[in-house]
Amino acid sequence: MTKEQWGQLKQSLMGTVGQSNFKNWIDPLEFDEIAEGVATFTVPTTFLGNYVSRNFGDLILHQLGQAGHTVRRLNFRVAANMPTRPVTRPHAVRPDEVEAAPAPRAADEQLPNAPLDSRFTFDTFVVGKPNELAHAAARRVAEGGPVTFNPLFLYGGVGLGKTHLMHAIAWELQQRRPDLNVVYLSAEQFMYRFVQALRDRKMMDFKQLFRSVDVLMVDDVQFIAGKDSTQEEFFHTFNALVDQNKQIIISADRAPGEIKDMEERIKSRLQCGLVVDLHPTDYELRLGILQSKVEQYRLQYPGLKLESGVLEFLAHRISTNVRVLEGALTRLFAFASLVGRPITMALTQDCLADVLRASERKITVEEIQRKVSEHYNIRLSDMIGPKRVRTFARPRQIAMYLCKQLTSRSLPEIGRRFGGRDHTTVMHGVKKIEELRATDGQIAEDLELLRRALEA
Ligand code: ADP
Ligand code: MG
Repeated sequence: MTKEQWGQLKQSLMGTVGQSNFKNWIDPLEFDEIAEGVATFTVPTTFLGNYVSRNFGDLILHQLGQAGHTVRRLNFRVAANMPTRPVTRPHAVRPDEVEAAPAPRAADEQLPNAPLDSRFTFDTFVVGKPNELAHAAARRVAEGGPVTFNPLFLYGGVGLGKTHLMHAIAWELQQRRPDLNVVYLSAEQFMYRFVQALRDRKMMDFKQLFRSVDVLMVDDVQFIAGKDSTQEEFFHTFNALVDQNKQIIISADRAPGEIKDMEERIKSRLQCGLVVDLHPTDYELRLGILQSKVEQYRLQYPGLKLESGVLEFLAHRISTNVRVLEGALTRLFAFASLVGRPITMALTQDCLADVLRASERKITVEEIQRKVSEHYNIRLSDMIGPKRVRTFARPRQIAMYLCKQLTSRSLPEIGRRFGGRDHTTVMHGVKKIEELRATDGQIAEDLELLRRALEA
């Protein structure tokens, strides 16, 4: 493919992705070559490459295919000498800093700020039960008022909105408090900066830069676990800022206490402020997110028809994480608009077959046993153990019933996992619960509750 051909292809992509997406994401791609089924593009930042790959990868592959190029994969290469365009404001040197730092700042020195995703604002963040606390805490910090909790520590599984919330805080603060020096970066970038400073013997500058920040946000801090000198430096930066009463916001994929290979003193420091977690999404939140996305897509793809029931189906079936959910919807809209067909259930199942298959969640016997014993407030060992009093026997039967319903295990297999019981015992338990379900409202309700919790 020649550069001109890419130019033409790009223009046709504009029709599909819309003007603003085109300007932000597609236009900056510079086509290099197609070799051995891999199309390589040069991009200004890793971020842009990742974003394009995640959101428009399928579309670009499809278009390349249509144009007669056999391409299996896209490759994005970051230009070595292309200027990056991070969202940074020129760093103003305040009088108090000059005193603290007699050495003048080098002209090319930039604040270690990572670009902010323009879509990650509070406006586009859908609030539901699983994330309402995290959202409220983020809002509070974004007001830019006096520091009340430090740090704010956000944690939760992948794709649940940690980065989105942090960017939203940064955007909001830029609006409300343009006087503040807000820095957002990933822990990985922090490490990279640190290593670079060590190598270039610019540790003083590095320290100075970070200590002149008013609000510091470090994303995915679990990344520096086990990296001792980076941890150490992070700890000092952290302490220096807390001492100056500067707001710090940290995210991680798990609670501070559970980050392996993180020094104890850092863990305990991280827990000093407010620790909030983002829970896995529930059905209502997923549906809300899909609906809000669809509203955005309606502008981008006017006239595209969406059959009722499709969003409910997706919210029900794709429960892993929001990123996957969004990706599915993006693909669905792009595909439907390319082929010029309405989004029906059939088209959805066709277009998303792989995603749907991958997100079929396998519920395990252990999970069921754990959930059920929690629900009835008994010990797991009593659920599995030999005691036959009703307090243990009933929950045990309920767990057996759920195993039969929600897993593909056979009765003998289930029996084995319940302390080596016989398959007839399991069968009896399952029967018993089936009966009770029809006659005992409380049991029916418990079962429904447990099933939902397990499938969430
Ligand atoms: P994390 O950093 O926790 O792995 P992200 O913040 O990157 O997750 O979120 C993944 C994707 O899901 C992003 O595109 C984000 O906009 C979206 N997302 C997550 N939670 C929500 C939400 N509550 N409302 C709207 N979009 C969300
Ligand atoms: Mg993230």
